[in-house]
Amino acid sequence: RELPSDPRTDPLPREVLHACYTKVSPSVQVDDPQLVVWSESVADLLELDHKEFERPDFPLFLSGASPLVGALPYAQCYGGHQFGMWAGQLGDGRAITLGEILNSKSERWELQLKGAGKTPYSRFADGLAVLRSSIREFLCSEAMHHLGIPTTRALCLVTTGKLVTRDMFYDGNPKEEPGAIVCRVAPSFLRFGSYQIHASRGNEDLEIVRGLADYAIKHHFPHIENMSKSESLSFSTGDEDHSVVDLTSNKYAAWVVEIAERTASMIARWQGVGFTHGVMNTDNMSILGLTIDYGPFGFLDAFDPKFTPNTTDLPGRRYCFANQPDIGLWNLAQLTTTLSAAHLINDKEANYALERYGTRFMDDYQDIMTKKLGLPKYNKQLIGKLLTNMAVDKVDYTNFFRTLSNIKADTSIPDDELLVPLKSVLLDIGKERKEAWTNWLKTYIHELSTSGTSDEQRKTLMNMVNPKYILRNYLCQTAIDAAEIGDFGEVRRLLKLMEHPFDEQPGMEKYARLPPAWAYRPGVCMLSCSS
Ligand code: AMP
Ligand code: MG
Ligand code: MG
Repeated sequence: RELPSDPRTDPLPREVLHACYTKVSPSVQVDDPQLVVWSESVADLLELDHKEFERPDFPLFLSGASPLVGALPYAQCYGGHQFGMWAGQLGDGRAITLGEILNSKSERWELQLKGAGKTPYSRFADGLAVLRSSIREFLCSEAMHHLGIPTTRALCLVTTGKLVTRDMFYDGNPKEEPGAIVCRVAPSFLRFGSYQIHASRGNEDLEIVRGLADYAIKHHFPHIENMSKSESLSFSTGDEDHSVVDLTSNKYAAWVVEIAERTASMIARWQGVGFTHGVMNTDNMSILGLTIDYGPFGFLDAFDPKFTPNTTDLPGRRYCFANQPDIGLWNLAQLTTTLSAAHLINDKEANYALERYGTRFMDDYQDIMTKKLGLPKYNKQLIGKLLTNMAVDKVDYTNFFRTLSNIKADTSIPDDELLVPLKSVLLDIGKERKEAWTNWLKTYIHELSTSGTSDEQRKTLMNMVNPKYILRNYLCQTAIDAAEIGDFGEVRRLLKLMEHPFDEQPGMEKYARLPPAWAYRPGVCMLSCSS
């Protein structure tokens, strides 16, 4: 459902009722826009000739300043719960979809410009984005993809050549920053909040919830649309009464179960690499189970379950690292509430979806952690003890697991030599902590020795799941500082590096280092929702 654009009012901020989107064209002002960086692998998804990126007018098209032939620009209507509170209509305040590309494999890719100007959903804000946050979104989208984590992608990043004013959170003074635009790419940018908004508007708009669900199923979950009664897809909920939810009888139930499982699987992968999203509001939850909206995200350096990269999330730490799995469930419960309100699923189906979220999360998380440690089978106690030790001694999450693959499964190694292979990652460990680590290693090595895997083989397998390089905040910041004075080399280098996070990449070792002292200085690497 679209609401035709009205040149007298668009993009005047307003409540857009009874519609899923509004036609709106990019209105961003540019002055000699420049291409900062682009992703070859995303260009290949779109079957875009690499020569296109050399065209002098390329930045004009990908900033939205020149219209693309065949484009049908629009902005989506969605709402959401922000920090647990219903916030009403939120977006898309600064993302404008240009259209979709259907490639030769019949894959549908939506192209969206983030920061190309105001839309009716911009509320009090300017519809723009700054270079700093655009670099972060661009690099992290691609880094996550290459870590094997479902995510929206990023085709390219262009500067607008214009300045944007931002209220900086650390001193309260407005600052002028270079403007930029990321072209994001995904099969769909529909969010939980795309459904919530219509249900929130009362009975009149419940039909829109159904229509948008039908749309999503038809285009993005065709296997559910085609699901026939003859396929036996019944599952026990494991309840006392052995109640069974038959997913073949209600496509919406099958749909929400799949959303639940995809979300669970995505978050399990986040936990595996130490990714903290930072703003898990329901408008930032993709119905495709993609990581979406890279704002104040952060990867763990030292392991800290309470880590939150977002200063707006303090002091509550609702979105801290360890809370992410529970927040995923809470968000999903908002979606099931929406679908229940629209009479698409019943209570039993809603509960079943939430249950499947939990099961899927645990299955995937246990599998990931087992692989990270190179264990022959899941061992809850051993993994729990390790994470406790890591938190106590503030051990680097990435470098620890990468280095752990050097451990030999040899039970005859004397106690006082056990920690030697981990020397580089167990820094400043006191005597009493040495004992805790030695004890843990003894049990770990014993476990390893029960598997038939050779040390060599285990190392290879572990290095395929434990990245050497992650997009640490200070690395982003270094690339941003250079880009802000016109040097895009570091952004491009980081993209290349993050395209192969599991490879050793000789000569690039400095990018695996812990944050330098400057990264901890107040204000340097602080992030908030302001971008
Ligand atoms: P976020 O917390 O980043 O998910 O943002 C919440 C909503 O605010 C998004 O849906 C955006 O549409 C909107 N928003 C964020 N920044 C801007 C901006 N500079 N101009 C207009 N809308 C914005
Ligand atoms: Mg958002
Ligand atoms: Mg955002």
